Amino acid sequence: MRFVDAHIHLSDEEYSGCVDDIVQEAKDSNVVALVSNSMDLNTCVGSLELADRFPGTVYAALGIHPWTVNDLTDEQFQQIVDFISRTQNKNLVAIGEIGLDFKYTKIWDKQLRVFDSMLHLAEKLELPVIVHSRGTTAQIVDMLPSYKIKKVLLHWFSNPISALAKAVDRGFYISEGAPVTFSSGIRDVVKKVPMENLLTETDGPVRFFRTPFEGKRTSPAFVPTIAKAIAELRGMDLESVADRIEKNFEDFFGIRVN
Ligand SMILES: [Zn+2]
Repeated sequence: MRFVDAHIHLSDEEYSGCVDDIVQEAKDSNVVALVSNSMDLNTCVGSLELADRFPGTVYAALGIHPWTVNDLTDEQFQQIVDFISRTQNKNLVAIGEIGLDFKYTKIWDKQLRVFDSMLHLAEKLELPVIVHSRGTTAQIVDMLPSYKIKKVLLHWFSNPISALAKAVDRGFYISEGAPVTFSSGIRDVVKKVPMENLLTETDGPVRFFRTPFEGKRTSPAFVPTIAKAIAELRGMDLESVADRIEKNFEDFFGIRVN
């Protein structure tokens, strides 16, 4: 049985010095493919380097995260756009993590501008997008159809549940991680989303302070536990869940997992 992690920040500073351990933990847990998401120029460069270092296991998603928009200068913005545009690396499989975060309304216009540019970049490079949509899911679900984006992954989709049907209708994917085991809201999402639209993630190094993850460094090794919780919620056997999610991963990112 094999598992996948569609959303982790492997090039995050918190993982520096332990990436080999993390990738080994993934392999030991049968997590065969990870997508390293980026936030800014440093993490974009880092994600691509890691994809080159662990070919066939680590893939890269490049983009500007809404949390980094505040301090972003025009020059830095252009550097990132140029870097992503010039990248001719087959390990670049998505634009991400991009999006809008309603907690940061002071920089709302700038967030919108950067998100729009990232979406245009995804159109140009014909890549799928991985989207952060805290407090903005309904808005994002409504605005995305005006772009010619290949595929959309709403990562850590939580609410409103009313936006889920619309997102699914539009063929968007949803990825869920550790909260599947303890959050009633997320468990509700997992029960309702069609299996064809579901992916697994960890969002590491984000930490989770609930059992069974409490006190642990977030690792792709969490994915089998997450998949098991999904299987229980859906009344399916673990193997069918794992196979389905692996297929979804391949379809979404357009790659064949080794
Ligand atoms: Zn993330």
